[in-house]
Amino acid sequence: MGFQRGRAVWLAAAMMLGIGAGPGLSMAAPPMVLATTGMIGDTVASLGGECIDVEVLMGPGVDPHLFQASASDVRAFQQAALIVFNGYGLEGQLDNVLTRVGERRPTLALAEAASAEGPREPMRGTGGYSVDPHLWMDAALWAQGVTPLAGMLTDIAPGCAAAINDRADTLNRRLRALDQWIQARIASIPEPQRVLLTAHDAFRYYGRAYDIDVQGIQGISTSAEASVADIQDTAALIAERGIPAIFVETTINPRTVQAVVEAARERSAEVSIGGSIHGDALGEPGTLADSLIGMLIHNTAEITRALGGTMAPLPAVLAPWQESLDARRVSGG
Ligand SMILES: [Zn+2]
Repeated sequence: MGFQRGRAVWLAAAMMLGIGAGPGLSMAAPPMVLATTGMIGDTVASLGGECIDVEVLMGPGVDPHLFQASASDVRAFQQAALIVFNGYGLEGQLDNVLTRVGERRPTLALAEAASAEGPREPMRGTGGYSVDPHLWMDAALWAQGVTPLAGMLTDIAPGCAAAINDRADTLNRRLRALDQWIQARIASIPEPQRVLLTAHDAFRYYGRAYDIDVQGIQGISTSAEASVADIQDTAALIAERGIPAIFVETTINPRTVQAVVEAARERSAEVSIGGSIHGDALGEPGTLADSLIGMLIHNTAEITRALGGTMAPLPAVLAPWQESLDARRVSGG
């Protein structure tokens, strides 16, 4: 099972203030929300604060396309006051569990809720997905899910409605500021090099929102292996357009990427590996990419640097991430 961010923070605060379970003090546990991915768990925690106990099913490095629930995961589903998942088939192996538990528990498919009403719309999928499920890659599109999520959280924690709505406003402001910042960073990359080459098609929304040409080596699901032809085609593209860097996604076997680098070299094209970017899972706790916003900042910084763009400080509303971004640049990690 994953971490319990909301609850853990609340307990730490209570201990610092010397608050105990004394007479007259209610220590009723906050309602537990089960989130499938880290991106969803972080979004729920951002709104829920101390009012919600968040459990995340899939930790760093876990591939949601392939994830199967264990017996203890199924028990967590049954104990949750609300289950928030992505939808659009991302959690393909959980379909049965979600359907079964959904008959008795409230559920929210956050990506589907985010794209129910415009202005930004979902994209048609590839590789057996009718809709591309990777909506969190477009900050403004993901922001469209904040209001429906706040509504569901308010239903299970009505005493916290005002606080949840305040935090929803903050998250909305942050995601919109982030959207603008990413736009400007990607625009700073010289046009011919504005190509994001990665081993997995998790970045199509990112490409559409931020105007960068996204080329994948294989299909949308990580369950397929890249073929020799895929690798040769990618190497040809690198040589033709002079693309300086290719990206490794943390949930992908790096051997595929290494094979492309070698195939490009055979065509006398030098391409470097542009560092890890996060597609389907957040980074380890304590790293810049351990939150949804941090993950998008991390990815954008990696892409901008490797492809020859220019970095700029984050807007004031994203100040909590600036220190981590600066530390990352100094350490190169
Ligand atoms: Zn994916």
